[in-house]
Amino acid sequence: MIYWQDYTWDEIEKLIPKLKAVILPVGSCEQHSLHLPLGTDTFGVIKLSEDIAKELKSEVLVLPPIWYGVSPHHMNFSGTITISPETLMALVYEIAESLYRHGVERMIIINGHGGNIDALKLVIRRISDDLGMRVVLINPWELISDVIEKVVESKIWGHACEFETSTALIEIPDKVRVGKIRRPNIKTPKIPYMALWEKNKVVIPWNTDDFTDTGAIGDPTKASKEKGEKLYKAMFERTLDFIKKFIES
Ligand SMILES: [Zn+2]
Repeated sequence: MIYWQDYTWDEIEKLIPKLKAVILPVGSCEQHSLHLPLGTDTFGVIKLSEDIAKELKSEVLVLPPIWYGVSPHHMNFSGTITISPETLMALVYEIAESLYRHGVERMIIINGHGGNIDALKLVIRRISDDLGMRVVLINPWELISDVIEKVVESKIWGHACEFETSTALIEIPDKVRVGKIRRPNIKTPKIPYMALWEKNKVVIPWNTDDFTDTGAIGDPTKASKEKGEKLYKAMFERTLDFIKKFIES
């Protein structure tokens, strides 16, 4: 059994001393254009966490996932549920506090949503400083930027795009509405340095519909299962490689 919540208290009490780390999958519930479900980010990190836990056997367990994230920029699209950065930080901190009290030494956050990064960065600092717990944040796509550069053809990518649709075809093939995949009308801002996809840019409190009509930022019509396989494999291998070394450190 790879999930924390499947054990009884006396079973987990015996397991914890042998446990090297726990994985906390953190996702979101937000619009993913017309062809991907609201839970895409969470489904993705759940699959990655499960695949890693199966590989590492009883050395790591997966915690109950967090299905909500910081998504105010997607609120102009129906179905998006957002929590504040403060709520996410409090939730993750209090989960860590409980785990630490029971003797868990390392927590690995596998995050599937860009909007969560700022809050998660702040909270892992607090967990480390205040509890003395070993904690790390993994944004899996940030481990494979070289592979993305090779595999992804589009210049603009970021949300429900060529990258995310390709990996969804591997992670949640039955949930992708293939027939509804279409290229969005990308709205390029009139002011320079304001487009999300520019290398040199200012920071603005943007909304997704400032840049796109469908909710996709990038071109999902260029997605394929073959690309998804390469991208998912790279994320799995590198995340696994990191975790193997982290739990021995
Ligand atoms: Zn997403």
